[in-house]
Amino acid sequence: MKLLKEKIIKEGRVTGEEILKVDSFLNHQIDPLLLNEIGKEFQKRFSNVKVTKILTIEASGIAIAAIAGLHFNVPVVFAKKVASKNLDKETYKTQVYSFTKGKTYDIQVSKRYLNSEDYILILDDFLANGRASIGLIELVKQANATLAGVGIVIEKGFQEGGEILRNNNVNLQSLTVVNKFKNGEITFKN
Ligand code: 5GP
Repeated sequence: MKLLKEKIIKEGRVTGEEILKVDSFLNHQIDPLLLNEIGKEFQKRFSNVKVTKILTIEASGIAIAAIAGLHFNVPVVFAKKVASKNLDKETYKTQVYSFTKGKTYDIQVSKRYLNSEDYILILDDFLANGRASIGLIELVKQANATLAGVGIVIEKGFQEGGEILRNNNVNLQSLTVVNKFKNGEITFKN
């Protein structure tokens, strides 16, 4: 996706060799026009599979998934990271290790919002070691729903997530795949 790559090159900031910050358009400030193009592109890439619901994880996945939801014309569900009194008691739940935060946390979705008739498309901002995506796939399994695929805005091709998902025959579509950041430089694999 040319527009996305240009934005990453122009505004992405690299920390060390492994972390890319895209706070100016994806993770803090949001660029709705870019997200609209991203949603359109996901819809194009998954147009050959049935999707009845989009699933993501709070917080950064929500804006991406909500705008994509307009293009798929399906509801969007986000897994919650923080246990809240407002959350239903009956939830699908699993644990995810966050590589950026260096800690493990629970993610959960109310049983009301995922069910066995659903064809679920998982969307997220980044794919690194795959823990967030694998956790979301686990929630889809617990609901006996069907996994339609996983769509990622930025895959970091030097971490194992992409390989794990592809080896497990997951229909993975990454809009961009970046290489390790040598000397702060951002280059693309695809
Ligand atoms: P994974 O679970 O695949 O190891 O990591 C993916 C999650 O960690 C994403 O949901 C994203 O929030 C965060 N993440 C991983 N790597 C990066 C990165 O380089 N930059 C940013 N901004 N977030 C990242």
